Amino acid sequence: MQIRIDRTRCRGAGQCVLSAPGLFDQSEEDGMVVVLEATPPPELRDAARRAAALCPNSVIRIVESEGAADGDEGGGDKGRGEGGGPDAER
Ligand code: SF4
Repeated sequence: MQIRIDRTRCRGAGQCVLSAPGLFDQSEEDGMVVVLEATPPPELRDAARRAAALCPNSVIRIVESEGAADGDEGGGDKGRGEGGGPDAER
């Protein structure tokens, strides 16, 4: 999972900081969102999704990794695309 933001749309409402303080903060200069963890650990992923859902300006976008289901530790691309091959039909 990756957290992407579009700061130009942020209006500094702070909903993200309230719902996921470990992932977001607000800049002391302009009050706009700052991402603290762009690749959140598994235990914070639900909070990241919640923050994205609550943001009133749709600033936060969650990019779920291709083929990386919940619980994946980001250990690379093992287990996909290799080993089976076109001859692996039953
Ligand atoms: S909730 Fe959205 S608009 Fe509010 S500070 Fe966070 S990113 Fe910005």
